[in-house]
Amino acid sequence: MAHPVAVPQALEIAVLRLAAVRFSHFLLPLLLLLGGVLMAQLAVLNEFFLSLFNVLPTLLLLLGGTFCVVYKRQRELSLLVVVYLAYFLLDTQTDHFRQHGKVREDAALVFHLCSLLLPLLYGLFAAWRERSHLLQDLVARAAVLLAVGGVAVALAQRFPQALQGWLAEVHWPLLHGQWMSLVQLAYPLFALAVLLLLVQYLRQPRPLHAAALCGLFGLLWMLPKTFSQPHALQVMSSLVMLMLVAAVAHEAYQMAFRDELTGLPGRRALNDRLERLGRTYVLAMADVDHFKAFNDTHGHDVGDQVLKLVASQLRKIGGGGKAYRYGGEEFTLVFPGKSLEDCRPHLEAVRQAVQGYSLQLRDTRSRPQDDKQGRQRRRAASASSVSVTISIGVAEREARHRGAAEVIREADKALYGAKRAGRNCVMAHGQNRRGALKEAAVEG
Ligand code: GH3
Ligand code: MG
Ligand code: MG
Repeated sequence: MAHPVAVPQALEIAVLRLAAVRFSHFLLPLLLLLGGVLMAQLAVLNEFFLSLFNVLPTLLLLLGGTFCVVYKRQRELSLLVVVYLAYFLLDTQTDHFRQHGKVREDAALVFHLCSLLLPLLYGLFAAWRERSHLLQDLVARAAVLLAVGGVAVALAQRFPQALQGWLAEVHWPLLHGQWMSLVQLAYPLFALAVLLLLVQYLRQPRPLHAAALCGLFGLLWMLPKTFSQPHALQVMSSLVMLMLVAAVAHEAYQMAFRDELTGLPGRRALNDRLERLGRTYVLAMADVDHFKAFNDTHGHDVGDQVLKLVASQLRKIGGGGKAYRYGGEEFTLVFPGKSLEDCRPHLEAVRQAVQGYSLQLRDTRSRPQDDKQGRQRRRAASASSVSVTISIGVAEREARHRGAAEVIREADKALYGAKRAGRNCVMAHGQNRRGALKEAAVEG
Protein backbone atom coordinates (compact mmCIF):
# COMPACT_ATOMS: atom_id res chain seq x y z
CA MET A 1 0.00 0.00 0.00
CA ALA A 2 1.25 3.48 -0.79
CA HIS A 3 2.51 5.47 2.16
CA PRO A 4 0.70 8.80 2.74
CA VAL A 5 3.50 10.94 1.46
CA ALA A 6 3.52 13.54 -1.24
CA VAL A 7 5.93 15.45 -3.38
CA PRO A 8 7.66 18.41 -1.69
CA GLN A 9 5.64 21.54 -1.16
CA ALA A 10 6.02 24.85 -3.00
CA LEU A 11 8.67 26.19 -0.64
CA GLU A 12 10.79 23.09 -0.90
CA ILE A 13 10.46 23.17 -4.67
CA ALA A 14 11.59 26.82 -4.65
CA VAL A 15 14.58 25.87 -2.49
CA LEU A 16 15.44 23.04 -4.86
CA ARG A 17 15.24 25.48 -7.76
CA LEU A 18 17.47 28.00 -6.05
CA ALA A 19 19.95 25.22 -5.38
CA ALA A 20 20.19 24.86 -9.15
CA VAL A 21 21.41 28.47 -9.53
CA ARG A 22 25.01 28.21 -10.67
CA PHE A 23 27.70 30.80 -11.07
CA SER A 24 28.92 28.76 -14.03
CA HIS A 25 25.76 29.77 -15.93
CA PHE A 26 26.92 33.38 -15.74
CA LEU A 27 30.66 32.91 -16.08
CA LEU A 28 30.97 33.01 -19.86
CA PRO A 29 28.28 35.68 -20.49
CA LEU A 30 29.85 37.92 -17.85
CA LEU A 31 33.33 37.44 -19.28
CA LEU A 32 32.04 38.32 -22.75
CA LEU A 33 30.18 41.31 -21.34
CA LEU A 34 33.29 42.55 -19.57
CA GLY A 35 35.46 41.87 -22.63
CA GLY A 36 32.99 43.79 -24.78
CA VAL A 37 32.94 46.79 -22.44
CA LEU A 38 36.75 46.90 -22.32
CA MET A 39 37.23 46.43 -26.04
CA ALA A 40 34.61 49.00 -26.97
CA GLN A 41 36.41 51.56 -24.78
CA LEU A 42 39.54 51.32 -26.91
CA ALA A 43 39.86 54.44 -29.03
CA VAL A 44 41.60 52.61 -31.83
CA LEU A 45 41.20 48.99 -32.74
CA ASN A 46 43.89 47.46 -34.88
CA GLU A 47 43.17 46.52 -38.48
CA PHE A 48 42.53 42.88 -37.68
CA PHE A 49 39.91 43.51 -35.00
CA LEU A 50 38.34 46.27 -37.04
CA SER A 51 37.73 43.92 -39.95
CA LEU A 52 36.69 41.14 -37.60
CA PHE A 53 33.99 43.20 -35.88
CA ASN A 54 32.78 44.47 -39.23
CA VAL A 55 31.75 40.99 -40.26
CA LEU A 56 31.24 39.28 -36.90
CA PRO A 57 27.56 40.18 -36.36
CA THR A 58 26.61 38.86 -39.81
CA LEU A 59 28.78 35.80 -39.36
CA LEU A 60 27.24 35.10 -35.97
CA LEU A 61 23.76 35.48 -37.36
CA LEU A 62 24.50 32.92 -40.06
CA LEU A 63 26.52 30.43 -38.04
CA GLY A 64 24.64 30.89 -34.77
CA GLY A 65 21.32 30.88 -36.59
CA THR A 66 22.15 27.57 -38.28
CA PHE A 67 23.29 26.19 -34.94
CA CYS A 68 20.00 27.26 -33.33
CA VAL A 69 17.99 25.61 -36.10
CA VAL A 70 19.94 22.36 -35.74
CA TYR A 71 19.33 22.34 -31.97
CA LYS A 72 15.72 23.53 -32.36
CA ARG A 73 16.31 26.73 -30.42
CA GLN A 74 13.74 29.03 -32.02
CA ARG A 75 13.84 31.45 -29.12
CA GLU A 76 17.56 32.11 -29.40
CA LEU A 77 17.25 32.36 -33.16
CA SER A 78 14.62 35.08 -32.76
CA LEU A 79 16.87 36.90 -30.27
CA LEU A 80 19.78 36.76 -32.72
CA VAL A 81 17.55 38.23 -35.42
CA VAL A 82 16.30 41.05 -33.16
CA VAL A 83 19.81 42.02 -32.05
CA TYR A 84 21.07 41.81 -35.63
CA LEU A 85 18.26 43.99 -36.99
CA ALA A 86 18.97 46.68 -34.39
CA TYR A 87 22.68 46.41 -35.17
CA PHE A 88 22.04 46.70 -38.90
CA LEU A 89 19.80 49.76 -38.60
CA LEU A 90 22.14 51.57 -36.24
CA ASP A 91 25.26 50.56 -38.15
CA THR A 92 23.88 52.18 -41.30
CA GLN A 93 23.50 55.38 -39.28
CA THR A 94 26.95 55.29 -37.70
CA ASP A 95 28.54 54.55 -41.10
CA HIS A 96 26.92 57.65 -42.53
CA PHE A 97 28.01 59.65 -39.49
CA ARG A 98 31.61 58.48 -39.90
CA GLN A 99 31.73 59.13 -43.63
CA HIS A 100 30.03 62.52 -43.70
CA GLY A 101 30.83 63.90 -40.29
CA LYS A 102 27.15 64.45 -39.55
CA VAL A 103 24.19 62.23 -38.81
CA ARG A 104 21.53 61.32 -41.33
CA GLU A 105 18.23 63.16 -41.26
CA ASP A 106 16.33 60.24 -39.80
CA ALA A 107 19.08 59.32 -37.30
CA ALA A 108 17.21 60.49 -34.20
CA LEU A 109 14.00 58.74 -35.19
CA VAL A 110 15.75 55.45 -36.01
CA PHE A 111 17.82 55.60 -32.84
CA HIS A 112 14.81 56.32 -30.59
CA LEU A 113 12.77 53.58 -32.23
CA CYS A 114 15.63 51.10 -31.76
CA SER A 115 16.00 52.09 -28.08
CA LEU A 116 12.33 51.36 -27.62
CA LEU A 117 11.79 48.28 -29.76
CA LEU A 118 15.02 46.48 -28.86
CA PRO A 119 14.20 45.96 -25.14
CA LEU A 120 10.56 45.33 -26.02
CA LEU A 121 11.16 42.61 -28.61
CA TYR A 122 14.23 41.15 -26.90
CA GLY A 123 12.39 40.87 -23.56
CA LEU A 124 9.29 39.47 -25.24
CA PHE A 125 11.11 36.86 -27.31
CA ALA A 126 13.42 35.85 -24.46
CA ALA A 127 10.54 35.31 -22.05
CA TRP A 128 8.31 33.65 -24.65
CA ARG A 129 8.36 29.92 -24.03
CA GLU A 130 9.22 27.79 -27.02
CA ARG A 131 6.51 25.61 -28.43
CA SER A 132 7.44 22.11 -29.34
CA HIS A 133 6.47 22.65 -32.96
CA LEU A 134 9.44 24.36 -34.58
CA LEU A 135 7.68 25.84 -37.58
CA GLN A 136 4.60 27.07 -35.70
CA ASP A 137 6.81 28.77 -33.17
CA LEU A 138 8.95 30.44 -35.82
CA VAL A 139 5.90 31.64 -37.74
CA ALA A 140 4.37 33.12 -34.57
CA ARG A 141 7.60 34.93 -33.69
CA ALA A 142 8.06 36.19 -37.24
CA ALA A 143 4.45 37.44 -37.26
CA VAL A 144 5.02 39.44 -34.06
CA LEU A 145 8.28 40.84 -35.38
CA LEU A 146 6.67 41.84 -38.68
CA ALA A 147 3.62 43.34 -36.99
CA VAL A 148 5.64 45.45 -34.53
CA GLY A 149 8.23 46.39 -37.14
CA GLY A 150 5.54 47.13 -39.74
CA VAL A 151 3.61 49.44 -37.42
CA ALA A 152 6.83 51.25 -36.46
CA VAL A 153 7.90 51.72 -40.09
CA ALA A 154 4.42 52.85 -41.16
CA LEU A 155 4.21 55.41 -38.34
CA ALA A 156 7.76 56.61 -39.01
CA GLN A 157 6.98 57.21 -42.66
CA ARG A 158 3.57 58.76 -42.17
CA PHE A 159 4.22 60.96 -39.14
CA PRO A 160 7.99 61.27 -38.73
CA GLN A 161 7.96 64.56 -36.80
CA ALA A 162 5.08 63.70 -34.52
CA LEU A 163 6.52 60.24 -33.73
CA GLN A 164 9.98 61.61 -33.02
CA GLY A 165 8.51 64.31 -30.81
CA TRP A 166 6.43 61.78 -28.86
CA LEU A 167 9.38 59.43 -28.42
CA ALA A 168 11.77 62.14 -27.26
CA GLU A 169 9.26 63.69 -24.89
CA VAL A 170 9.79 63.33 -21.15
CA HIS A 171 6.57 61.60 -20.19
CA TRP A 172 7.12 61.45 -16.44
CA PRO A 173 9.17 64.50 -15.37
CA LEU A 174 9.33 63.27 -11.77
CA LEU A 175 11.02 60.05 -12.82
CA HIS A 176 13.45 61.67 -15.20
CA GLY A 177 17.14 61.52 -14.36
CA GLN A 178 19.97 63.52 -15.83
CA TRP A 179 21.85 60.29 -16.51
CA MET A 180 19.16 59.08 -18.93
CA SER A 181 20.72 59.25 -22.37
CA LEU A 182 18.01 57.20 -24.10
CA VAL A 183 14.40 58.26 -24.53
CA GLN A 184 12.61 58.03 -21.21
CA LEU A 185 10.21 55.36 -22.47
CA ALA A 186 13.10 52.96 -23.07
CA TYR A 187 13.97 52.65 -19.35
CA PRO A 188 10.71 51.14 -18.08
CA LEU A 189 10.89 48.69 -20.97
CA PHE A 190 14.45 47.68 -20.06
CA ALA A 191 13.45 47.43 -16.38
CA LEU A 192 10.46 45.25 -17.23
CA ALA A 193 12.57 43.01 -19.47
CA VAL A 194 15.27 42.65 -16.77
CA LEU A 195 12.62 41.72 -14.21
CA LEU A 196 10.99 39.23 -16.55
CA LEU A 197 14.27 37.53 -17.43
CA LEU A 198 15.46 37.52 -13.82
CA VAL A 199 12.26 35.78 -12.70
CA GLN A 200 12.62 33.40 -15.61
CA TYR A 201 16.16 32.52 -14.55
CA LEU A 202 15.18 32.02 -10.90
CA ARG A 203 12.27 29.80 -11.88
CA GLN A 204 14.43 27.80 -14.25
CA PRO A 205 18.14 28.32 -13.68
CA ARG A 206 19.55 27.44 -17.10
CA PRO A 207 22.56 28.75 -19.06
CA LEU A 208 20.24 30.10 -21.77
CA HIS A 209 18.24 32.17 -19.31
CA ALA A 210 21.42 33.53 -17.73
CA ALA A 211 22.81 34.47 -21.16
CA ALA A 212 19.60 36.23 -22.21
CA LEU A 213 19.70 38.28 -18.99
CA CYS A 214 23.37 39.24 -19.39
CA GLY A 215 22.76 40.05 -23.05
CA LEU A 216 20.07 42.52 -22.07
CA PHE A 217 22.55 44.39 -19.85
CA GLY A 218 24.99 44.43 -22.76
CA LEU A 219 22.38 46.09 -24.98
CA LEU A 220 21.49 48.61 -22.27
CA TRP A 221 25.16 49.50 -21.99
CA MET A 222 25.64 49.68 -25.76
CA LEU A 223 22.74 51.84 -26.92
CA PRO A 224 23.76 55.20 -25.38
CA LYS A 225 27.28 54.76 -26.78
CA THR A 226 26.21 54.04 -30.36
CA PHE A 227 27.42 57.38 -31.73
CA SER A 228 29.90 58.42 -29.06
CA GLN A 229 32.11 55.30 -28.94
CA PRO A 230 33.18 54.18 -32.38
CA HIS A 231 33.21 50.41 -31.73
CA ALA A 232 30.56 50.00 -29.04
CA LEU A 233 27.80 48.95 -31.44
CA GLN A 234 29.72 46.34 -33.42
CA VAL A 235 31.61 44.91 -30.47
CA MET A 236 28.69 44.63 -28.07
CA SER A 237 26.14 43.32 -30.56
CA SER A 238 28.68 40.69 -31.63
CA LEU A 239 29.34 39.67 -28.05
CA VAL A 240 25.66 39.56 -27.08
CA MET A 241 25.03 37.29 -30.06
CA LEU A 242 28.06 35.20 -29.09
CA MET A 243 26.66 34.86 -25.53
CA LEU A 244 23.43 33.45 -26.91
CA VAL A 245 25.17 31.03 -29.27
CA ALA A 246 27.59 29.93 -26.54
CA ALA A 247 24.65 29.27 -24.20
CA VAL A 248 22.98 27.09 -26.85
CA ALA A 249 26.24 25.11 -27.06
CA HIS A 250 26.49 24.97 -23.24
CA GLU A 251 23.00 23.49 -22.95
CA ALA A 252 23.62 21.03 -25.77
CA TYR A 253 26.72 19.87 -23.90
CA GLN A 254 24.80 19.56 -20.63
CA MET A 255 22.06 17.58 -22.33
CA ALA A 256 24.58 15.11 -23.63
CA PHE A 257 26.79 14.86 -20.58
CA ARG A 258 24.66 15.67 -17.55
CA ASP A 259 22.10 13.58 -15.80
CA GLU A 260 18.91 15.57 -15.60
CA LEU A 261 17.53 14.25 -12.30
CA THR A 262 20.62 14.58 -10.12
CA GLY A 263 22.56 17.23 -12.02
CA LEU A 264 25.67 15.02 -11.82
CA PRO A 265 27.65 14.24 -14.97
CA GLY A 266 26.15 11.13 -16.53
CA ARG A 267 27.39 7.90 -18.07
CA ARG A 268 28.65 9.54 -21.27
CA ALA A 269 30.75 12.01 -19.28
CA LEU A 270 32.09 9.10 -17.21
CA ASN A 271 33.11 7.14 -20.31
CA ASP A 272 34.80 10.24 -21.64
CA ARG A 273 36.69 10.71 -18.37
CA LEU A 274 37.71 7.05 -18.14
CA GLU A 275 39.45 7.32 -21.47
CA ARG A 276 41.60 10.17 -20.23
CA LEU A 277 42.77 8.73 -16.90
CA GLY A 278 46.50 8.23 -16.35
CA ARG A 279 48.18 5.18 -14.86
CA THR A 280 47.17 5.76 -11.27
CA TYR A 281 43.59 6.11 -10.21
CA VAL A 282 40.89 4.65 -8.04
CA LEU A 283 37.30 3.91 -9.06
CA ALA A 284 34.44 3.34 -6.68
CA MET A 285 30.90 2.15 -7.33
CA ALA A 286 28.20 3.29 -4.91
CA ASP A 287 24.73 1.76 -4.85
CA VAL A 288 21.70 2.69 -2.76
CA ASP A 289 20.69 -0.14 -0.42
CA HIS A 290 17.29 -1.77 -0.78
CA PHE A 291 16.17 0.94 -3.11
CA LYS A 292 13.58 -1.18 -4.86
CA ALA A 293 11.83 -1.75 -1.56
CA PHE A 294 12.16 1.97 -0.78
CA ASN A 295 10.43 2.85 -4.05
CA ASP A 296 7.71 0.29 -3.40
CA THR A 297 7.03 1.74 0.04
CA HIS A 298 7.33 5.47 -0.58
CA GLY A 299 6.67 5.83 -4.27
CA HIS A 300 8.83 6.76 -7.21
CA ASP A 301 8.67 10.54 -6.61
CA VAL A 302 10.11 10.24 -3.12
CA GLY A 303 12.65 7.79 -4.56
CA ASP A 304 13.71 10.48 -7.02
CA GLN A 305 14.12 13.05 -4.23
CA VAL A 306 16.28 10.58 -2.33
CA LEU A 307 18.46 10.01 -5.40
CA LYS A 308 18.96 13.78 -5.64
CA LEU A 309 19.89 13.86 -1.99
CA VAL A 310 22.39 11.01 -2.34
CA ALA A 311 23.85 12.74 -5.41
CA SER A 312 24.21 16.02 -3.51
CA GLN A 313 26.26 14.20 -0.84
CA LEU A 314 28.38 12.35 -3.39
CA ARG A 315 29.08 15.59 -5.22
CA LYS A 316 30.80 16.88 -2.07
CA ILE A 317 33.25 13.96 -1.92
CA GLY A 318 36.73 15.09 -0.91
CA GLY A 319 40.15 13.79 -1.87
CA GLY A 320 39.99 15.01 -5.46
CA GLY A 321 37.15 12.61 -6.27
CA LYS A 322 34.38 13.29 -8.74
CA ALA A 323 30.94 11.72 -8.76
CA TYR A 324 29.03 10.49 -11.83
CA ARG A 325 25.62 8.89 -12.15
CA TYR A 326 26.35 5.50 -13.61
CA GLY A 327 22.68 4.69 -14.10
CA GLY A 328 19.61 3.95 -11.95
CA GLU A 329 20.61 4.18 -8.29
CA GLU A 330 24.28 3.52 -8.98
CA PHE A 331 27.01 6.11 -8.93
CA THR A 332 30.70 6.03 -9.84
CA LEU A 333 33.39 7.97 -8.03
CA VAL A 334 36.62 8.68 -9.87
CA PHE A 335 39.84 9.59 -8.05
CA PRO A 336 42.56 10.43 -10.57
CA GLY A 337 46.17 10.06 -9.39
CA LYS A 338 45.13 8.60 -6.02
CA SER A 339 45.80 5.37 -4.17
CA LEU A 340 43.23 3.23 -2.42
CA GLU A 341 44.42 4.37 0.99
CA ASP A 342 44.09 8.05 -0.05
CA CYS A 343 40.44 7.52 -0.94
CA ARG A 344 39.17 5.29 1.82
CA PRO A 345 38.55 8.02 4.44
CA HIS A 346 36.64 10.11 1.91
CA LEU A 347 34.47 7.19 0.86
CA GLU A 348 33.77 6.38 4.51
CA ALA A 349 32.88 10.03 5.12
CA VAL A 350 30.44 10.15 2.24
CA ARG A 351 28.83 6.86 3.27
CA GLN A 352 28.27 8.29 6.76
CA ALA A 353 26.98 11.58 5.35
CA VAL A 354 24.31 9.74 3.34
CA GLN A 355 23.40 7.61 6.35
CA GLY A 356 23.05 10.70 8.54
CA TYR A 357 20.88 12.65 6.14
CA SER A 358 17.12 12.37 6.21
CA LEU A 359 14.36 13.60 3.94
CA GLN A 360 11.26 15.05 5.58
CA LEU A 361 8.02 13.72 4.22
CA ARG A 362 4.70 15.47 4.45
CA ASP A 363 1.21 14.48 3.65
CA THR A 364 -0.17 17.20 1.42
CA ARG A 365 -3.12 15.23 0.15
CA SER A 366 -5.50 16.87 2.59
CA ARG A 367 -4.75 20.27 4.01
CA PRO A 368 -5.81 20.84 7.63
CA GLN A 369 -8.70 23.22 8.17
CA ASP A 370 -7.42 25.10 11.19
CA ASP A 371 -4.05 26.21 12.41
CA LYS A 372 -3.94 24.03 15.50
CA GLN A 373 -4.68 20.95 13.50
CA GLY A 374 -2.07 22.06 10.99
CA ARG A 375 0.59 22.42 13.65
CA GLN A 376 -0.18 18.99 15.05
CA ARG A 377 -0.09 17.52 11.59
CA ARG A 378 3.22 19.20 10.86
CA ARG A 379 4.72 17.89 14.06
CA ALA A 380 3.53 14.41 13.23
CA ALA A 381 4.78 14.81 9.69
CA SER A 382 8.24 15.88 10.76
CA ALA A 383 8.48 12.57 12.56
CA SER A 384 8.01 10.77 9.27
CA SER A 385 11.38 11.27 7.75
CA VAL A 386 13.16 8.75 5.63
CA SER A 387 16.79 7.98 5.06
CA VAL A 388 18.77 5.55 3.01
CA THR A 389 22.22 4.05 3.11
CA ILE A 390 24.71 3.26 0.39
CA SER A 391 27.21 0.48 -0.13
CA ILE A 392 30.49 1.21 -1.86
CA GLY A 393 32.89 -1.06 -3.70
CA VAL A 394 36.28 0.33 -4.59
CA ALA A 395 39.19 -0.80 -6.75
CA GLU A 396 42.58 0.64 -7.50
CA ARG A 397 44.16 0.55 -10.94
CA GLU A 398 47.08 -1.85 -11.05
CA ALA A 399 49.60 -2.71 -13.77
CA ARG A 400 47.72 -5.93 -14.65
CA HIS A 401 44.57 -4.01 -15.62
CA ARG A 402 44.11 -3.49 -19.32
CA GLY A 403 41.68 -0.64 -19.04
CA ALA A 404 39.32 1.30 -16.81
CA ALA A 405 36.47 -1.07 -17.67
CA GLU A 406 38.35 -3.84 -15.84
CA VAL A 407 38.83 -1.64 -12.77
CA ILE A 408 35.11 -0.82 -12.80
CA ARG A 409 34.30 -4.53 -12.93
CA GLU A 410 36.45 -5.11 -9.86
CA ALA A 411 34.86 -2.19 -8.04
CA ASP A 412 31.49 -3.76 -8.92
CA LYS A 413 32.61 -7.10 -7.49
CA ALA A 414 33.69 -5.31 -4.33
CA LEU A 415 30.29 -3.65 -4.22
CA TYR A 416 28.59 -7.03 -4.24
CA GLY A 417 30.95 -8.00 -1.46
CA ALA A 418 29.78 -4.96 0.50
CA LYS A 419 26.13 -5.95 -0.10
CA ARG A 420 26.79 -9.47 1.09
CA ALA A 421 28.60 -8.13 4.13
CA GLY A 422 25.41 -6.49 5.30
CA ARG A 423 25.32 -3.24 3.21
CA ASN A 424 26.06 0.32 4.42
CA CYS A 425 29.81 -0.25 4.25
CA VAL A 426 32.83 0.35 2.04
CA MET A 427 34.60 -2.70 0.67
CA ALA A 428 37.77 -2.76 -1.41
CA HIS A 429 38.45 -5.28 -4.14
CA GLY A 430 40.22 -8.26 -2.68
CA GLN A 431 39.21 -7.34 0.85
CA ASN A 432 37.47 -10.15 2.65
CA ARG A 433 34.02 -9.99 4.07
CA ARG A 434 35.26 -9.88 7.63
CA GLY A 435 37.37 -6.83 6.92
CA ALA A 436 34.31 -4.90 5.91
CA LEU A 437 32.29 -6.19 8.82
CA LYS A 438 35.03 -5.27 11.24
CA GLU A 439 35.14 -1.75 9.90
CA ALA A 440 31.41 -1.35 10.07
CA ALA A 441 31.44 -2.57 13.64
CA VAL A 442 34.26 -0.22 14.68
CA GLU A 443 32.47 2.67 13.05
CA GLY A 444 29.11 1.72 14.57
P1 GH3 B 1 20.40 -3.64 -3.13
O1 GH3 B 1 20.52 -3.19 -1.73
O2 GH3 B 1 20.86 -5.05 -3.32
O3 GH3 B 1 21.06 -2.72 -4.07
O4 GH3 B 1 18.85 -3.65 -3.46
P2 GH3 B 1 18.11 -2.72 -4.49
O5 GH3 B 1 16.66 -2.91 -4.23
O6 GH3 B 1 18.61 -1.32 -4.36
O7 GH3 B 1 18.60 -3.30 -5.86
P3 GH3 B 1 18.00 -3.28 -7.30
O8 GH3 B 1 19.15 -3.00 -8.23
O9 GH3 B 1 17.26 -4.55 -7.53
O10 GH3 B 1 16.98 -2.07 -7.36
C1 GH3 B 1 17.25 -0.90 -7.99
C2 GH3 B 1 15.98 -0.11 -8.00
O11 GH3 B 1 16.27 1.26 -8.22
C3 GH3 B 1 15.04 -0.49 -9.09
C4 GH3 B 1 14.38 0.77 -9.50
O12 GH3 B 1 13.04 0.78 -9.06
C5 GH3 B 1 15.13 1.85 -8.74
N1 GH3 B 1 15.51 2.95 -9.59
C6 GH3 B 1 16.42 2.96 -10.59
N2 GH3 B 1 16.52 4.18 -11.15
C7 GH3 B 1 15.63 4.96 -10.50
C8 GH3 B 1 15.25 6.34 -10.63
O13 GH3 B 1 15.74 7.10 -11.45
N3 GH3 B 1 14.30 6.80 -9.76
C9 GH3 B 1 13.73 6.00 -8.82
N4 GH3 B 1 12.82 6.53 -8.02
N5 GH3 B 1 14.07 4.71 -8.71
C10 GH3 B 1 15.00 4.19 -9.52
MG1 MG C 1 21.54 -1.42 -8.24
MG1 MG D 1 20.57 -0.85 -4.84
